[in-house]
Amino acid sequence: MSDAGNEAGRSGIYAIAPRLALEGTAASPGVGIGRAYVIDPRRFHVPRREIEPGEVELEVGRFIEGLGKTHDHLEAIKNRLPHGEHRQILEAQQMMLQDPDLTTRVEELIRGEGISAEWAVDRVATEIRETLERADDEYFRERGSDIAFLAERVLRHLGGDDGSEAQPPPGSVVIAYDLSPADTAELARAQVVGIVTGGGGQTSHSAIMARSLEIPAVVGVEDVLGHVQTDDMVIVDAIEGVVVIRPEPAELERWQNVRARYDVFEDRVQREHGLPAIARDGTHIVLRANVALEAEIASARFHGSEGVGLYRTEYAFMDRDTPPTEDEHYRNAKHVLHRCAPHPVVFRTFDLGSDKPTRLFRYTEREQNPAMGLRALRLALRERDVFLCQLRGLLRAAVHGPLRIMVPLVSGVSELRAALGAIDEARMQLAERRVAHAPDVSIGIMVEMPSAALVADALAKHVDFMSIGTNDLIQYTLAIDRTNDEVGYLYRPLHPAILRLVHKVSAAGKAAGVAVSLCGEMAADPRYTWVLVGLGVRELSMHPSAIPVIKNIIRASTLSEMEALARDVLDAEDEDDAERRVLEVMQSRFPEHLLHGGGSRFAAETRPRRPLEDAG
Ligand code: PEP
Ligand code: MG
Repeated sequence: MSDAGNEAGRSGIYAIAPRLALEGTAASPGVGIGRAYVIDPRRFHVPRREIEPGEVELEVGRFIEGLGKTHDHLEAIKNRLPHGEHRQILEAQQMMLQDPDLTTRVEELIRGEGISAEWAVDRVATEIRETLERADDEYFRERGSDIAFLAERVLRHLGGDDGSEAQPPPGSVVIAYDLSPADTAELARAQVVGIVTGGGGQTSHSAIMARSLEIPAVVGVEDVLGHVQTDDMVIVDAIEGVVVIRPEPAELERWQNVRARYDVFEDRVQREHGLPAIARDGTHIVLRANVALEAEIASARFHGSEGVGLYRTEYAFMDRDTPPTEDEHYRNAKHVLHRCAPHPVVFRTFDLGSDKPTRLFRYTEREQNPAMGLRALRLALRERDVFLCQLRGLLRAAVHGPLRIMVPLVSGVSELRAALGAIDEARMQLAERRVAHAPDVSIGIMVEMPSAALVADALAKHVDFMSIGTNDLIQYTLAIDRTNDEVGYLYRPLHPAILRLVHKVSAAGKAAGVAVSLCGEMAADPRYTWVLVGLGVRELSMHPSAIPVIKNIIRASTLSEMEALARDVLDAEDEDDAERRVLEVMQSRFPEHLLHGGGSRFAAETRPRRPLEDAG
């Protein structure tokens, strides 16, 4: 009970505790509004009883029976759930019940020390939990609470209880110190609309369970049980990680609208998951994934990408003492193409140096200013044999599918010619060795320097496609080191200089009939989608989990409204003005949370937060 509540109780005057907002960690995105149902936080009382020698076998038998009942209880909960991650969590808990560290040790204590099954279970669970909680890794610390929950269930069964928590009424927001995965699964059945816990982190099994059951949840809210009582009205903002207790009526109404808009949008995201990003007037915007590791391809496919728009091959060069061989490049690219078929994969030749360090080439150690030093294409041209080796591997793999080669950090036409010369040379080397390779692979460049953007019309004459890399384009245009937080506040994607450069490149591509895509982080931010498409970009490549939300923005829009916004924003005098114009339009059309970098359930992972928030 809050202090205000205690005061009221003591003085006998009825007083309503005031509104309160508490912060925690958003663990399962969404918005839940309902009356609180507080789960009693008191720990189960463990009877500490010594037993007679003649009772030992009976006590061991009770323990084994308690384990069996707990197992069956978890089985019953599991069987009510759909197949998937939630079931696996409960299976893992069932396996923990059979772990000899628990079972053999409990039996040893009953036999060796002559104590009751309850006491032995409690001691062993405490030992295991304390060991796990000392671990550095959050994952192991979370497993400590799994053990505590399991032990509590076993204890309840030993005491003749069926092990279940009382069920909250449908539509409640459950407030608890912490919840076991099984409790969380039961809550979904009870149709609770939100969960708030005092303990737990994002990797706790109850958080994972809440995510997969789609119950909005905020965890780690310090002392929440001290502030809420059953029946208090609660808003769970599980996007920002805030819990509002006893909101004002106007606030409640506003949040009901937020929730309705969020839910409508989320439903659409889920329904349209497998469909292409076609705007309402029929314009198809190709959405592809940025991938650095082969393991991310599964995520790209799951999130409905139409291939890979940026495969960052430099990761294959990191943490090793020799560069990958031609065969390694070949095999990896062939495998990636196979996994992405029938969609294309854009392999960017290695972009090493500066923010992508390597111990293979030591140039950066001698450089005062590595971002402007020997990185990316410049390094590849210096280390020509390494470059040729990669190009040969890629050209060979191209016989197996729609492979495209993209060269990073091209400054202008002469450097592009040097890169194209290297590609020709790699082709000739393969021809001389009579090794199979694709004769005409699509070749493109990244436009990520102001110089390249300004001569995009000249560059477009020599390439098949251009991809705007806004991460570097912003760094070089606005002179802000992308790795330096001190100047992070200057990172403003809607700076008029950036908008004009993007516009210039897309116009140059259009005039030359060359496809223009954009693969910087800007592509993943729903606030910018209209502007980018309106400026003429027709392909966006981003981290996979951002795809469903961007797709839905596009599917709900028409090209003419996107172009109207782009035209308007091109007129803005400065970045503040541009941001205001964009937010005003986007907020009138899409859920507020989504546009603040908060997530859909499909995009619950990382979305970069940029200073645009300040403009809101
Ligand atoms: C970019 O610069 O925008 C880009 C996509 O490349 P990277 O972030 O890998 O430098
Ligand atoms: Mg770049």
